[in-house]
Amino acid sequence: MQWRRFEMAKLIDGKAIREYNLDKIAQEVAELKENGVPACLAVIIVGSDPASRVYVNNKKKACERVGIRSLEFALPAETTTQELLELIDRLNADNEVNGILCQLPVPEHIDKNAVLKRILPCKDVDCFHPENVGALSTGTGKLMPCTPMGMMKMLEYEGIDPAGKHCVIIGRSDIVGKPMAMLMLAKSATVTICHSKTKNLSEMTKQADILVAAVGRPNFVTADMVGDGAIVLDVGINRMEDGKLCGDVDFEQVKDKASMITPVPGGVGPMTIAMLMQNTLTAAKMQNGIE
Ligand code: NAD
Repeated sequence: MQWRRFEMAKLIDGKAIREYNLDKIAQEVAELKENGVPACLAVIIVGSDPASRVYVNNKKKACERVGIRSLEFALPAETTTQELLELIDRLNADNEVNGILCQLPVPEHIDKNAVLKRILPCKDVDCFHPENVGALSTGTGKLMPCTPMGMMKMLEYEGIDPAGKHCVIIGRSDIVGKPMAMLMLAKSATVTICHSKTKNLSEMTKQADILVAAVGRPNFVTADMVGDGAIVLDVGINRMEDGKLCGDVDFEQVKDKASMITPVPGGVGPMTIAMLMQNTLTAAKMQNGIE
């Protein structure tokens, strides 16, 4: 472990790193278009969940930002699984559509797993299809889960090589915790995954060179859980009663102990949609035999 630090941690600026990545993606999208391949993302939203609507709008804006064509399919809440699968089949068969995503959550009566499995793996820009999840675990995948990939890009931008470092992840979800562990392993980190049944959690987290918090509880990670000089990545997005967003890390306490830390908002969050754009670009290239 590193020496004791008394100054504040360096902020990892998610917005700046997002813009850096989006600029690069936009350039590649433009080059692809010049070569006759206009990248296109289809977004499906079922029902009228306000949070989902905000996410879908943000995805459309990001598409505009990088020059990716976006198609939106807004379906009523009563849509059946069969109807949704038929739409996915049509989009799978459409050569002009490179990426397909179905905004989650879908209404309860819809078979979510059937939907996620139906999207062709080569168009699965969320990386939820079992084939892509498997490829991730063997290190052979091209499409990567967006939030974990966003964190890897942040580390890369900051010049941090995970090789040999101890990465402790709190949370084992299919969307964040587990795939983050796979990406870290692929970069030769030593990985520990903690979860709600982990004993002596703070003993584990204190050993982390890189600590990833993906719990979904505001201010869950306190200073006594963090080793001196750790790099702390906060995935949590918790909406507080006053409407403000709060991370899973007690930022005010932990910033004086960590060497680097992501804020909330403005940290990991902005990277996720940028990586969706990256996956759409990658999918368009793959489908056209480029790289
Ligand atoms: P989840 O609810 O699926 O998983 C939470 C995990 O935390 C579980 O694996 C659980 O075992 C673990 N956990 C719960 N209580 C614990 C405890 N007391 N001790 C140790 N572990 C405990 O959540 P998720 O989908 O992984 O999301 C986590 C957070 O990240 C949420 O706040 C979510 O909003 C946010 N999130 C952000 C982004 C982004 O783009 N930045 C993307 C996805 C999720």
